Amino acid sequence: MKTVVKRRPFGNTGLFVSEVGFGAMNLRVLNTWEEGVALVNHVLDQGINLIDTARAYKGVNGSGVEVQSEDMVGAAIEGRTDIDEPIVIVTKGHGYTPEVFDQDLQDSLRTLRIKKTDKGLFIGQTEVKLVVFFHGIKEDRWNTIKASNVIEHAKKRQQEGLFHYLGFSSHYGDGKEIKEALDTGAFQVMELPYNVYNRSIGEDGKTDFLKYAHDKGVAIVNMKAFNGSSMVATSKLIKDFCSITYSDMLRFSLSNPNISTVDVGARYPHEYDADVQASLLPMLTQEERQAMKKEADKISGLFDGICRECMHCLEKFECPQGINFPAILGNHSRYQIAKELGEDTTPYVENYAKMQGPKADSCVGCAGCTEWCEYHLDIPAMMIRAHADLAK
Ligand code: SF4
Ligand code: SF4
Repeated sequence: MKTVVKRRPFGNTGLFVSEVGFGAMNLRVLNTWEEGVALVNHVLDQGINLIDTARAYKGVNGSGVEVQSEDMVGAAIEGRTDIDEPIVIVTKGHGYTPEVFDQDLQDSLRTLRIKKTDKGLFIGQTEVKLVVFFHGIKEDRWNTIKASNVIEHAKKRQQEGLFHYLGFSSHYGDGKEIKEALDTGAFQVMELPYNVYNRSIGEDGKTDFLKYAHDKGVAIVNMKAFNGSSMVATSKLIKDFCSITYSDMLRFSLSNPNISTVDVGARYPHEYDADVQASLLPMLTQEERQAMKKEADKISGLFDGICRECMHCLEKFECPQGINFPAILGNHSRYQIAKELGEDTTPYVENYAKMQGPKADSCVGCAGCTEWCEYHLDIPAMMIRAHADLAK
């Protein structure tokens, strides 16, 4: 096994993790289950020892088969006999009450194929260190967590050895809940979005939560280092206006000393390898970081309030009108960016015309989806704007 990727302390846990982790969300969108397992194996071959998955990372793959990320991660690790260090697995559930927490935990242990032994938790022959998260805390979920006393309940399960570390993830705009969660002292791991275009939960926000958590000894997983899934399509639009590359974005996150590991998701081994290679380049200096921020800030306003096509909302929710609202909003966000930059908007109007299924004008404004949007988007209002701009 290669071990070229550098290691960093994982907060106060005593573990050292590869500074590049593997975000296993995209395993569900590959063509086959076997492709997903092969990608996890490829990642393990690079010496990566942290994999970030979730109960809700499920979906129908390119072969029309319902697959789960946890299942493919577990299957890959179970097949290995050559891993000579514990693999850290982060998984997340929506268990904000003791009953749902227990159900999610049991489901995760079974799907990941984790067995509890006298020597710890194992998948096949490989020892694992399991981190269990409250997924995406925000006001309503945090209130439920507090009212249900699920944190004390989770600590009991932790003491029973069913998992090693308790954590939470959250998104932009939930600063009050992030601070309250960190102040409980119950969490050993935290996962937040941070990248060169949006440092609002980092050094350029009202509170630097990365530093705040780091100073408390909490391990930090950096998600959205590449500004979300929508960036793949958007990068073509902005390339003439901003010189920042994917490799630059990864190096920007890695050069923040508060971060333990940066989540890198990939669909193909060569994509993952490119990120591993970028991580081996020298750290950015403070001057280089400042210059990159200045470059990013020329266009970062374009990303405010857009749908990031992260698909978190569709993990637990389906629009009753059958509208694929992230697809419509993603296309509209590129329309808006193109318009702002003086680029041709016709392709987005044409895309909209070709889209299958109900369009944005079928939205009845029920707002059922907004509760599931991790970025607090006003989806009903955005649907009205999208249709007005795109239906021509
Ligand atoms: S607000 Fe519109 S898009 Fe959202 S769930 Fe209701 S009908 Fe669907
Ligand atoms: S609507 Fe919100 S949660 Fe859903 S894909 Fe867009 S940004 Fe993500």
